[in-house]
Amino acid sequence: MTLHIPFDNSFADLPDAFYARQSPQPVSAPALLAYNSALGEQLGIERSEGDASLMAELFAGNRTPDGADPLAQVYAGHQFGNFSPRLGDGRAVLLGEVVDRRGERVDIQLKGSGQTPFSRMGDGRAWLGPVLREYIVSEAMHALGIPTTRALAAVSTGDLVYREQGPLPGAVLTRVAKSHLRIGTFQYFAARQDVDNLRRLTDYAISRHAPEAQSPRDLLAAVIAEQAKLIAQWMGVGFIHGVMNTDNTSISGETIDYGPCAFMDDFHPARVYSSIDRQGRYAYQNQPDIIVWNIAQLASALLALEPDQDGAVRAYTETVHAMPGLIREAWADVFAAKLGITHRRDEDAGLASEWITLMANQGADFTNAFRALEGDRVDTSFGDEAPLQDWLARWRGRIAGEPDPAALMRRSNPAIIPRNHRIEAMIAAAVGGDMGPFETLRAALASPFEPPADPGLTAPPRPEEEVHATFCG
Ligand code: AMP
Ligand code: MG
Ligand code: MG
Repeated sequence: MTLHIPFDNSFADLPDAFYARQSPQPVSAPALLAYNSALGEQLGIERSEGDASLMAELFAGNRTPDGADPLAQVYAGHQFGNFSPRLGDGRAVLLGEVVDRRGERVDIQLKGSGQTPFSRMGDGRAWLGPVLREYIVSEAMHALGIPTTRALAAVSTGDLVYREQGPLPGAVLTRVAKSHLRIGTFQYFAARQDVDNLRRLTDYAISRHAPEAQSPRDLLAAVIAEQAKLIAQWMGVGFIHGVMNTDNTSISGETIDYGPCAFMDDFHPARVYSSIDRQGRYAYQNQPDIIVWNIAQLASALLALEPDQDGAVRAYTETVHAMPGLIREAWADVFAAKLGITHRRDEDAGLASEWITLMANQGADFTNAFRALEGDRVDTSFGDEAPLQDWLARWRGRIAGEPDPAALMRRSNPAIIPRNHRIEAMIAAAVGGDMGPFETLRAALASPFEPPADPGLTAPPRPEEEVHATFCG
């Protein structure tokens, strides 16, 4: 039995100030719940058949694979607007990196792998629910074409994890990311006025994520460009991240740290699911403003590298102030495609906004309303008829000259998203030992633009199935 991961580590070569060496903590009875073999192949992982128990040991952290340099990364971050100077991986370890078959360097991290010097009061563990939720939702995101960390494996640990709900089965997720550098990583060194390591971090981030960048300000602009597109794509699928703290905002522009996240069913722009977001800071409609606020924190951190403070403040302010416009452009591109418009004009953003207002007034199902539009199956019980008919007439007029709007809409509007009530039911089944619903969701969400074999998977929740709050792990 073999399993070979072709590690090629670079983060571990950075100075000790960037991390604490930390092995994963063994668990009692590791069992493999899921393995993403397509991703494993892309990473160049070689394995022989019949190696489930070896994989369980490796992905639970009971055995450290050859070539790994396990460590917990340090970072800081603004959590709900309040700065914590030292957070760090409290329940995760970076095993190392591989250069994948496309030549791209990615991190392999275990999440839920035990305590580290950054655990503070936490147990370092994760329970099965959030592990399987992150597996399903991150892989669905990827299939939707939205930048995201990936899920390589999930194992159950055989140990109990104690949460508010009581004792729960423990699990570990193996996560793959373009990197785990966050805005909070920059804030950590900036807050300590450790300019040497801030510069090292910046050089490292440039080499991994923005090789064309010539300066810290170029890196900032590159992160802005990626994050503007990312947030627009979230908005386009009704996704609410839920914890857009600066430590959960990736420099690579990937969606990272799936906690109390959710895809909306009925559309309300002020929707919040996270049980810890009492003020609605991270509501659906606030995400474009919050990302700009987060980016401003990155700009502040990078400023410490600039010798001419006055000039740099002006230049960085200009760069940050360009972001809302970039988000609006990206938003307009995303929603034009959802309406079947290939050749976007300035006025199309207004047409999209009007449609969204109609949806919001009616609390229409976000996913199905767009999908129905494509099939000309708009529900005419959809609120007040006159404004809807008026809008439909103008929209039909607008797409009349566009090349194949129906085809564009079919690849821009998913038929299936990971609905909260389906995820909750999947978790309940998995806790009871039944991975069937997990496999069903995983298979259907792998091609989200195709109507699934079971049309029930596209249905909004019945009132009694509705999930009102989501929780951290
Ligand atoms: P999050 O907002 O979930 O991304 O986590 C914020 C911080 O809390 C990070 O430093 C995490 O590593 C840490 N953390 C979250 N859950 C735990 C846990 N169960 N044990 C230790 N640290 C944790
Ligand atoms: Mg986090
Ligand atoms: Mg987390």
